[in-house]
This record gives sequence, C-alpha cells and structure tokens, in this order.
Amino acid sequence: VKPGEALRGLLLSSRAQAMLRPVVALTLLLPASVSGQPLLRIHHLDVGQGSATLLVGPAGRSCLVDAGEPGQGTAVVVPFLLQQGITRLDAVVLTHYHSDHWGGIPEVLGAGFGPTVVYDRGTAAIPGGLGGYLNSIAASGSTRTTLLPGMVIDLGCGARVECIGANGSSVFGGWVPVAGQYQEENARSVALRLVYGNFQQALCGDLTGGGGGTPDVESLLAPAMGDVDVMVMNHHGSSTSSNATWVATLDPEIVVCSCGAQNPYGHPHAQATGTVLANPATIGLFVLNAGTAGQAGILVDGHFTVTTDGASYTYGGGLVAQASRAVDEGPGLRGVLPGDVVIAEYMHDPAAVPDSVGEWIELANTRAESIELRGFVLRDHGTDSVTLPGLTIPPRGRIVLARNGNPAQNGGVIAHWVWPGGSSCGFCLGNGADEIELRRPDGLVIDLVVYDGGATFPDPVGRSVERKDLSALPVAANFGVAQALIAGPGPGSDYGTPGLPNSIDQTPPWVGLLPLAGPVLGTTVPLEVSGTAALAGSPYLLGFADCPHPGVLLSLTHRVVPLCPGPLLLLSITPGNGFVQGFAGSLDASGRGLAALIVPAEPLLCGFVLDLSGIVLGAGPPDGVVAVIDHLALRLH
Ligand SMILES: [Zn+2]
Repeated sequence: VKPGEALRGLLLSSRAQAMLRPVVALTLLLPASVSGQPLLRIHHLDVGQGSATLLVGPAGRSCLVDAGEPGQGTAVVVPFLLQQGITRLDAVVLTHYHSDHWGGIPEVLGAGFGPTVVYDRGTAAIPGGLGGYLNSIAASGSTRTTLLPGMVIDLGCGARVECIGANGSSVFGGWVPVAGQYQEENARSVALRLVYGNFQQALCGDLTGGGGGTPDVESLLAPAMGDVDVMVMNHHGSSTSSNATWVATLDPEIVVCSCGAQNPYGHPHAQATGTVLANPATIGLFVLNAGTAGQAGILVDGHFTVTTDGASYTYGGGLVAQASRAVDEGPGLRGVLPGDVVIAEYMHDPAAVPDSVGEWIELANTRAESIELRGFVLRDHGTDSVTLPGLTIPPRGRIVLARNGNPAQNGGVIAHWVWPGGSSCGFCLGNGADEIELRRPDGLVIDLVVYDGGATFPDPVGRSVERKDLSALPVAANFGVAQALIAGPGPGSDYGTPGLPNSIDQTPPWVGLLPLAGPVLGTTVPLEVSGTAALAGSPYLLGFADCPHPGVLLSLTHRVVPLCPGPLLLLSITPGNGFVQGFAGSLDASGRGLAALIVPAEPLLCGFVLDLSGIVLGAGPPDGVVAVIDHLALRLH
C-alpha cells in the first residue's frame, strides 16, 4: 500500500478518528522542541555492567531495548519507567541472549508493563538459563516475535527502529558465518538503526567486529547502518568491537559507552575508545561509568539522554550538562522520489578506450537539497547489480560512477565512485540494447533508462548519450548525443560531459518553493513560490506528489505534472478560486507567488511527508513549461 493510499483510507474513516481522540489529548501533554516538532527520547540507562535503553517516540510510544543484569530491572528500569509516566511498554527488544541484556526483562514484565511484544533474534541455538526470560513473556501475556533484518518497529510520527542485521546477516544481503565461532552469541546480536527525521543512532548490543578472533559482523553491517549522529559502542567498548571500518562508516558525532564501574572485563578497552576518539567527527565519548581500564572519554555517572526533533538533538545527563547540535546531513531516503535523482548521461560504447575501462554513468540530483545514495541499487534487467555506498549528490549536482577511476586509462573521466567488478563487469553497459535502473533501498524505482540499440534511442560510438531535460521522463525523445569532447585530463578523444552540465541540456530553470510557517496539523501553511522577474505574471500549477508515479503526463515532452488526484487535493485551496485539483495561481511582478496549504487536524498525519512540486507556464517550449517548481517535502507535525 502506498503511503498516500493508506492515508486517504484513514482520512475517510471516522471510526479511526474517534479512536484517536485519546491520542490527541496525550499529544498536547508532550514536550516539544524549539521547532515545535515533537521529540524522540533515547534514554541510555546506567545499569552498570550491561545495557538498557528506553526509547519514547514522539507520540508517546515506548520501546525498551535490553534491561541489564538480573536485579537491574527492579532497581533501575522500573523506577525510571514510572518516573517517565510510562505504565505500559509498546515493545521490548532483546539484542542477544546474555544475562547483562535480558536479565532485567522478567522483572520489568513482572512489574506490569506488559502485555507487550518482545522481539529477539529468534529461537535458534538458545543457550541455557533463559527460562526466566521465556516464562516472563508467557506470564505477562506478551507475544514473542523474531526480529529479522528489514523489520521496523514503529515509534509513531515517522520515528522508527529498523533492524538492519541479526544472526550475522545484513538487510543489504550477505552474511558472516557465526555458528561455532568465538563469541557466537555476541556476533548474533540484532543491529538496530534508530531513525527520526534526519537523525540516526546505532544500537547493536554486543555485536562483534573481528577483534580477538571474533566474526567481523560490523564490517558487513556498516554499509546498511551508514552515517549516524549517535553511536552506542558495541559490547560495552570491548576490543572485540568498534573496528575502524565500523567507526569510519558510521562516523558518529556522539558516542555512548554503557559499561560497569567495576566490570571484570576491562571495558572500555583503550583500543576501541582510541578508534572512536581518533575519528575526526567525534565530538564526545560519554561513558556511563568510569570502567576499569583507565579513564577514556567523559564520565556520565548516571543516565544519558538524547532527545531529537529529527533536525537537531540535545544530549546530556548525570554529570554532563545538556548541549545541542544539528543533525549531520540533509534529507533522508524517505523523501527521495522518482525524478529526484536521474540518469543524466551514460557512455555505453567508448571508442578511445576499451569498454572494460571506459563505461560510465552520470547521475544528477534535481532537488535543492543534497541526497545521499547509501543502499541505492544500480542494476539492469539481467544479472548486473551493484549497491551504492554513502555517496552524496550535492543540490542540483552530479556524480559520475564508472568501471575504472583512472582518467589516464578510462578516457579522461573523473569518477566519484568505481563500481565493484571492474573489467569483469559488476555492472556492464551493453552495446546495442540494455537497461540502467536506479532503485531506492526499499526497491522503489527512482529512474529507468531502457535503450534499444538505435531503434528509438541514440546509439553512438565514442560519444555519450545525454538527457536533454533532467525534469522530464527518460523516454527516447529526451536523449541525444553529446556534442562536446570530454574535458578531463586523460586521452579524452571521446565525446561527453561527465560531471558537467550536458552539452544538449534543455532543462527549464528551477523555481524555489518554501513553507513560510511550520506544517502544523490544524493550521494553514503559506507556501512561497519564488521565481525571478523574468517569470512575472506567469501562471503556475502546484500539486501533491504523494504517490510514486503521480500526476498528469504532458505527452509532448513526457513531463509529469504532479497533480495527483485524490481527497488530499481537495484540502488545498487557492484564494479566490475555491477548491481546485492542486494549486493554481499567477506569479506577481517580481516573479513570486503565494499559495496556502490547509493541513487538517488529523493526528494520523503526524510524521507524514507531503511532497509538493509544480510548473510555471508560458510561451516558447513545446509543452509550455518555462520553469519547474522545486520538489518540497513537508513533514507534517
Ligand atoms: Zn553485554
């Protein structure tokens, strides 16, 4: 079910609205951030040698991840839950079957915070001594569920817990053998990625990274975890974990280590804390207790709490005074829709150099914000497939992906990334007919070029194929042959514009679209269309793109105008025009326009991302589109 469809169903359901009235009352009591956006709270509880983390979502949904050794549930977790006003947990996650993680769970469930759903890594190879854990689930009427890579625990308003790995397997595919290996149980830990807006945190139990002869699960899972703002050190800062690949890939600003003051394991180890402290992004390493291996980082001596509205976060607790900072990146994957990243150019048949080194693809970002491509997949409809690492395309920028990254060998092309396989063809561009497909990690196709050996598409030799209009669909008529020589430092006798604007570019200019107030439920949000004076008096159309392939197709240029029909559109209004399908208006003498979006007071819309974009009309182009209005993703709250 597409988000928009689900939403429409919900909007039409008065029963759902009646059920949500208590939620509205609750929401009013919740503290909000400066931005007005409700907060996700992550409490790292001081349970000594062990781990316990309480997550409280923006609408009050709660999830406890681990609960320390036996005794810590009663001594620490239960009092903290009561202090937070929590009387029932919506979910419990056990990262792995060691007593410093599961030990307190029976005490919490026994104290009446169930029935709930208890997630763990499954039934395989459970070591002994878990009777108390299993019995407490049954006694509290709770349900036990196996957490698999790819599963998501919803914390409300877009906040969520993603399972990216378990039992040595990754959500991106691939696995590391853990059965029978040293520290097998730790290696089997479930790896959690906490996400809210543009904030991410890693929380992975006692996951191993190869140190001391353990299986290196960290390096397998690092690409799936990607860049985070906050990282909890795996295995209490043990030297088995926090390897260089993991720390560099996650590149955390804030690092938390849950270790005991008198632990017998020497946690945290100097090797692990040294790796973290040497990473340039690290702002602070916060240890809940001083540990036994000498002082490293900043002592908390208490609970450490991170609260975030998805755009910034605040951290502190115990001896540590509160501080805040912005998240470390732009929009997340949630808002990347078809057309936001396009296949702008491809070299499928170079002449100056062999195909085995000279093939490349240029991707372009059509949005005014940077887009990260971590986990995106480039594939054809045969067997070629490569998964992209944490590449970022700057606003309206381009990146070049190539089979070979040496300009002296590849025809003078400066590549941002070389895909795996090289001359043995991890991803090959066929001469003649082939496909180039870009998919989001969840499988949604973002762009697809199907060239056909000259039947309709250009099929040059020694020249790249360029997209004429980056804002229009990838049909044959929108592609032509490069007219400029490659400008790189190499031999460069072929034609193409890798990393530069296309030589036959016809993309209309972009016009900004910005909200003038926060998209708060139950309010009218003014939206400003900011064109230039050259567009004075031009009519414009704005629409919602709340489904993957929205809108009306302009057949002349194969441009999609995002006038996605549906009940949501009837909620929009243009002053003087009454209710219309999408917004319509005219830009003023300075090229600006003002529209208004009426956001219903519907609690289920909290966290929903509303995508808007549009066009400006005028004389000249065949389809009358003289400018394209930016894609704006509004996260309602
Ligand atoms: Zn542990």
